[in-house]
Amino acid sequence: MGLFSKWVESLDYQYEILSTCSRNKSPRSTCSHCIDACELNAIEIKKGIPHINYKGCNECGKCMVSCPVQAIAGIFPKREFHQGRLVAGKSSPPSAKELVVYAKKGIKGIIGEEEIDSRWNQAVDEANVLLKQLEEPLLTVERTKLEKTEECISRRELFFSWKEGTQTLLKEMAPAKWRFNQTALELSRYYPNHQFANIQLNTERCTLCHACEKLCDKKCIEINDEGFVISAQSCSNCQLCADICPEKAITVNEQISPYEQVKYPFFTSVCSSCHKSFHTLSENQELCVPCMKKSQFLITR
Ligand code: SF4
Ligand code: SF4
Ligand code: SF4
Repeated sequence: MGLFSKWVESLDYQYEILSTCSRNKSPRSTCSHCIDACELNAIEIKKGIPHINYKGCNECGKCMVSCPVQAIAGIFPKREFHQGRLVAGKSSPPSAKELVVYAKKGIKGIIGEEEIDSRWNQAVDEANVLLKQLEEPLLTVERTKLEKTEECISRRELFFSWKEGTQTLLKEMAPAKWRFNQTALELSRYYPNHQFANIQLNTERCTLCHACEKLCDKKCIEINDEGFVISAQSCSNCQLCADICPEKAITVNEQISPYEQVKYPFFTSVCSSCHKSFHTLSENQELCVPCMKKSQFLITR
């Protein structure tokens, strides 16, 4: 490990929740992945926004891995690698998501000298379920004596070594408030032929209000001349579209499948009340949206 890397290791840092948190984008966001992932209950919601209680945080990185939109910045805990394998230790195991990224980068499995902690084995099992769905080689678990002369590198260095282009380590670090792995854990980047979410639209309910389309940063939803187009390859499963939809017409579930764009075409109808022409996704829709809302309002009065 170089002097500069050692200096980096010695620096203190704190995890930070960025303004890109889904809860900052919409007060209707129900995202609580970071809160659920934190075993020390060190994240709490204040005025709708998650905050880290630094006294309770041990910087394990679980919140960072769990955040679907990479809105938690910080540095991963140090890990070691040996002959292309992650060295299992007493520390908390990596998540399945993290292992899937390692696998894509050539890590073949985990290795340890002593009995490997069951939590590490479980993480590998979970990662292998995902890797199987992605049609990738599975990770192995091995017990063997580790050569002391072998070079061990930290997890952070591994992530750095993956960075493409000519950016130097210094340039990466200087302005970014320790934003390591902000994008390194975005699985869809590594598996462009697969999608990690299944977005379902209820065409009977959707009123084509565009709210989901406007809120989706990943451009997974487009309402254009062709109709309602869903491209889930880059979907982060942030749930913002489902949370914002006033008609509860959209649902998003974690699911790995080959990438496929889905198009729901428009139908053109004439409103049976105001007799104006309107676009709809449902062949059976008789009222345009304003007339439908008006009739619903009169019924509930
Ligand atoms: S997991 Fe990420 S997006 Fe969700 S509440 Fe936490 S910081 Fe925000
Ligand atoms: S489609 Fe929905 S869940 Fe997926 S990234 Fe866009 S807003 Fe988030
Ligand atoms: S799915 Fe919901 S939010 Fe999106 S256009 Fe339809 S009604 Fe609006």
